[in-house]
Amino acid sequence: MSIAIYPGSFDPVTRGHLDIIKRAAAVFDRVVVCVMVNAAKADTLFTLEERRTLLELVTADMKTVTVDTYSGLLTEYARLYEKPVIIRGLRAITDFDYEFQISLVNKKLNPDVETLFLIAGGSYTYLSSSAVRELGRFGAGLGCFVPDAVARAIYGKFSRDAVPEHI
Ligand code: ADP
Repeated sequence: MSIAIYPGSFDPVTRGHLDIIKRAAAVFDRVVVCVMVNAAKADTLFTLEERRTLLELVTADMKTVTVDTYSGLLTEYARLYEKPVIIRGLRAITDFDYEFQISLVNKKLNPDVETLFLIAGGSYTYLSSSAVRELGRFGAGLGCFVPDAVARAIYGKFSRDAVPEHI
């Protein structure tokens, strides 16, 4: 059985992440989305458990996709599975720089792990969780960026009683 691990902060999950999850699910028998603690992104809007819950909600109809959390090294987490492939999404050349380095370090730490890059869907190349958080802070419509449940959760974080009509 082929297994993909899609790790990330997912603070919160966006339609760009979902596109990657769907495309990975079309290639692999099983996809494990792993919500991780990224020390460089310590000040998250959502807790690890909240991020997991939102991912479970928006992937509920994808039968081969499961969600997990891990606060250690990805290469250690990967040891839980037989020959897993790590999936990462690439939006721009700036992603490439970072991902290139991380994938080489991961290979050094755990030579059994391969990293596979999926190019972001054309309409999601500009989309990031940080932009979505910032838009949510100002009460902007989020419908084209995140699923409705995620938009509501974001507005909830900023204590906005009035959710825009077109979220
Ligand atoms: P991390 O903190 O690990 O970078 P993110 O949640 O920001 O976690 O992203 C997880 C993965 O998803 C990364 O590989 C990132 O490049 C990718 N990604 C983020 N946004 C998009 C998007 N809009 N389209 C495709 N891939 C994306």
